[in-house]
Amino acid sequence: MQNISVKGVKRVPQRKCVGCGEMIGKKGAVRVVRDKDGSFSVDPTGKKNGRGAYICNDSKCLGLAKKGKRLERSFKCQVPASIYEELEKEIDKELTENQ
Ligand SMILES: [Zn+2]
Repeated sequence: MQNISVKGVKRVPQRKCVGCGEMIGKKGAVRVVRDKDGSFSVDPTGKKNGRGAYICNDSKCLGLAKKGKRLERSFKCQVPASIYEELEKEIDKELTENQ
């Protein structure tokens, strides 16, 4: 697995965190994708096709997103609990890698 949170990478499109509502900064984000079949997946590489939403690599943002059902709002449908679990794992991983 490639580490995508390399410092100084210029490819920074306008991505907004569904948790805090702010633009994704240097610490990066985890992407959630809903493909055309309507199935969700967590996409740390940001390369999967489909409609995506971003959450900062921050458990606080995930908490906010969960609490406010922001992912559901963004996708306009139910998001399976397993996706939240995966996001949690992904964010945990990123945080330990960056320490
Ligand atoms: Zn955020």
